[in-house]
Amino acid sequence: MKCIFCGSDTKVTDKRESPEGTRRRRECLKCKKRFTTYEKPERKQIIIIKKDKRREAFSIEKIKSGIIKACEKRPISIEKIDKIIENIEEKLRKKGKEVRSEDIGKMVMNKLKKLDKVAYIRFASVYKDFKDISDFKNEVKGL
Ligand SMILES: [Zn+2]
Repeated sequence: MKCIFCGSDTKVTDKRESPEGTRRRRECLKCKKRFTTYEKPERKQIIIIKKDKRREAFSIEKIKSGIIKACEKRPISIEKIDKIIENIEEKLRKKGKEVRSEDIGKMVMNKLKKLDKVAYIRFASVYKDFKDISDFKNEVKGL
């Protein structure tokens, strides 16, 4: 945690559990100012709204397996995939409680597009449910 006054590193001088969460007293290593932070005891759950309006709990594993499948035999390290997932999860948590599955699909596609065209097309073909070769051609044209 960075100092809220000057942005430097801080140390925790006191830690206490309270009903609001974990309360920490911090002191800036540089400007020596003190402040308090509260950390909520649990991360809020994200709900996915599917195309058919059904709802299900957000599963990072599900997204990960989809991306790994798309990246099979491509020169993409698992670290890169993890980074994509981390980034998406962070965005989702900022977005709020309910997220449409389409939005997640789009986020993944945007990431893969920059990373690897083949992985992108593979993911898009599953996600967009390509019906025939003309769908593929249209997608490739858009690259
Ligand atoms: Zn400071």
